[in-house]
Amino acid sequence: MELWGVLYALGVAAVFLSAGLSRYLKALVGRLPRAWLRTLAYVMLYLLLTWALSFPLSVYMGYFREHAYGMSNQTFGEWLGEALTSLGLSLVFGSLVILALYAAVRQAGRSWWMWGTGIAAVAIVLSIFAGPVFISPLFNKSTPLPAGPVRAAILSMARANGVPADNVYLVDASRQTKRISANVSGMGSTIRVSLNDNLLNRCTPQEVQAVLGHELGHYVLNHIPKMVVFFVLIIGLGFWVVDWAFRKLVAQYGPRWDVADLSDVGGLPLLAVLLSLFLFLATPVFNTIIRTSEQEADMFGLNAARQPDGFASTAIKLSEYRKIDPTPLEEIIFFDHPSGHTRVQSAMRWKAEHLGGK
Ligand SMILES: [Zn+2]
Repeated sequence: MELWGVLYALGVAAVFLSAGLSRYLKALVGRLPRAWLRTLAYVMLYLLLTWALSFPLSVYMGYFREHAYGMSNQTFGEWLGEALTSLGLSLVFGSLVILALYAAVRQAGRSWWMWGTGIAAVAIVLSIFAGPVFISPLFNKSTPLPAGPVRAAILSMARANGVPADNVYLVDASRQTKRISANVSGMGSTIRVSLNDNLLNRCTPQEVQAVLGHELGHYVLNHIPKMVVFFVLIIGLGFWVVDWAFRKLVAQYGPRWDVADLSDVGGLPLLAVLLSLFLFLATPVFNTIIRTSEQEADMFGLNAARQPDGFASTAIKLSEYRKIDPTPLEEIIFFDHPSGHTRVQSAMRWKAEHLGGK
């Protein structure tokens, strides 16, 4: 699917550049009075049309495939409503970020990619900060954990590891999916641990504690700020590579695509597809960085929750949406979490070393 996604994006870029859609859009916005208004109008039309052209693939991946695997709880209308909410967010915030990037290109010239990296860093930090309080509520409801022994055990483990108990929430993920999951989101004052209701409904108290131990690991080990640093560095490298490739391609095909230079907003479809190609090729690097921190959280969680059996059986349950025993190469390239096989092995090793196998 990752490969098809990139090939599809290449096709969309071809519609804009080779088939002349970009030329048409530039003519359409050309009568607006100011340069930044023309850029903004082009960017919003570009985002809207890219969304529409990619719609068949999004429906297949997000709706039909989820249903084919029995993972979705959504009707088509519910799915479409959320897809439109996401489109609205990208039209408002995505276009502001792209507008800021074009301002950097026009002001800073060749060194735009350094300013661009700074802009990307600010955008990433703000979106993570806003995630749990402004973005997630558009899709799901968060509530305190329901009273009972599970809540008592979870909050006790949180307090023991220095995580304030009012930073632990239950989220109604069953609105969208049957998947068991939990996560840490937010930054600074908005950071929180969220358990999804499927986890609470489909797992034993021991399994829930094992998963929460893992999430507390992300929280205590500051994984979110660390990931931001890595991602910003990779994006900076990406901007630099994209800048180089863009100049090469425009020198050759610029007249045919009606793209003058980097400051020409008509080159946005080319910039976007070059960046997605770069990010696609960087997938194993992204996955390995994330998977390494997931492994750290696994170890933290085993020590914090002391539920190796619960952790192992949850890893097996997750195989309904993650291949449980991939080859080592598959795990390095495609897996952003340790495989079920690796996790069961870690849990059983922990059990043997700590409890003598009892
Ligand atoms: Zn994790």
